[in-house]
Amino acid sequence: MDFHCHLDLYPGAREVYREAAERNEFTWLVTTSPKAFAATSRALPAVSSVLISPGLHPEIAHERAAELDLLLEQMATVKAVGEVGLDGSPRFRQHYEVQRRIFRAVIARCAELGGRTLSIHSRRAVRDVLAELEGHPNYGTAVLHWFSGSSAELKAAVHMGCWFSIGPAMFDSLNGRKLVAALPQDRVVPESDGPFATVGGKPVMPWSAPETAQFLSEVWNLPVGVAADMLVRNGANLRKTTGI
Ligand SMILES: [Zn+2]
Repeated sequence: MDFHCHLDLYPGAREVYREAAERNEFTWLVTTSPKAFAATSRALPAVSSVLISPGLHPEIAHERAAELDLLLEQMATVKAVGEVGLDGSPRFRQHYEVQRRIFRAVIARCAELGGRTLSIHSRRAVRDVLAELEGHPNYGTAVLHWFSGSSAELKAAVHMGCWFSIGPAMFDSLNGRKLVAALPQDRVVPESDGPFATVGGKPVMPWSAPETAQFLSEVWNLPVGVAADMLVRNGANLRKTTGI
């Protein structure tokens, strides 16, 4: 399983897509813009194990702001939305207000539509992401991808019922491992975030859940089989409760 993957952006995407569909029980392909969602949905053959969702990545929010209406329209026809969110890091901070306007509209739309499942980017912006979610309690279910906030922010996110998707690259840093250690064990699902996320200079592939289980077992001090079973159970649980 892979709950956050930019499958359409790998070199040789078609082949990766075919292999993911074959190897994974479930792959969530998050797109970075509404037009990319439309193009990807057209270009790749529909497969029941691959969920393709419309998004508007905060890193390109300022370039794609004009596509917001299209995103809000697309959201009516799908169960999941992503990648969306906020990025407060120095490189993207200058466009923070545009990002916030878009994210706020997306969350409001989720609530209006009766709830959606979201894959959310929250780098250096966890507090604001949670505030937007809090503003619309019926938004649905949030899956915070590659969480990198503080321990206090993690606690707040857990308290709000958020899920977390984590991948092998998250274990590269001491802080990443520390955060993983504090995650609620029943709300963690695997992700690759490939091809952006890399380990050892190579993009993480959509079938990397066993590596995540291996790292998790070390951090949580559990047999690897137990950690792997947990990821499977959690993934099934998230899909069942949200209908994705
Ligand atoms: Zn991503």
